[in-house]
Amino acid sequence: MEFNDKVIIISGASSGIGAETARLLSSMGGRVVLVGRNQERLNNVVADIIKAGSPTPHAIVADVTKDCQRIVDETISHYGKLDVLVNNAGINIEIPIMDATTLQYEQIFDTNVKSVITLTKLCVPHLEKTNGNIVNVSSICGMVPVYSSTFYSMSKAALDQFTQCAANEFGRKHIRVNSVNPGLIETPIFETVGMSPDEIKTFIEENGKKYPVGRIGRVSDISRCIAFLASERAEFITGTLLKCDGGAVSAAAY
Ligand code: NAD
Repeated sequence: MEFNDKVIIISGASSGIGAETARLLSSMGGRVVLVGRNQERLNNVVADIIKAGSPTPHAIVADVTKDCQRIVDETISHYGKLDVLVNNAGINIEIPIMDATTLQYEQIFDTNVKSVITLTKLCVPHLEKTNGNIVNVSSICGMVPVYSSTFYSMSKAALDQFTQCAANEFGRKHIRVNSVNPGLIETPIFETVGMSPDEIKTFIEENGKKYPVGRIGRVSDISRCIAFLASERAEFITGTLLKCDGGAVSAAAY
């Protein structure tokens, strides 16, 4: 199996893309460290992984804006090494520029950018020992402007540049750094931005029609890209921003 005995930190692993990535990489032999803020939701993902017969993961209840040092310390004390960091935790607040506050800007950038920088810096000394790699979960919103998601789009654009700069700087340490940039993916993130179940259903159907492949994305579309970039199959790939969007950006359907 591709990740046999590889130790993998996944932030935001209690739901959506992070949870699916934890299930997939565990099923491929990985020793996964699930990081999330909600104990109960983390427990549900841990239970799925154990039920599937995959290696028992380690869950850490933590906030990536505050607890990065503890996340890395606990990982190393539990497993003794680190092979892969998946920076997946992210938030969006949909609000027009004129109504948005600098506090909202700070909340988004603290989670989507600053925590990635902090975790990266803490993990690099460990990844250097294992020729490890980092996969950041960005968004096509970093590549095209999205109405009412200005700070989110800005944060993902900053993350994309960080991915490329880090790949450049850490290449000589034999650490690869890449990102997956999803298009719309059906996850709980839509509830988090305040949409009702009916609004979500309509939103998914309408947007699916605009996407060249006729649907928006599934969490498995993204977890498979993360698995590829994190694996040895991608050993010559670094600094890449991998769009996984059903052709949305190419078709200007976003
Ligand atoms: P989600 O809301 O299901 O998952 C985000 C996870 O991050 C949640 O588990 C949340 O609790 C966690 N998180 C947020 N802030 C955190 C913090 N401070 N500390 C620890 N955990 C924190 O949504 P998702 O769609 O699975 O999002 C995962 C990533 O994918 C995000 O970075 C998001 O920006 C990106 N993304 C999502 C879509 C989409 O359409 N769903 C599209 C492009 C990019």
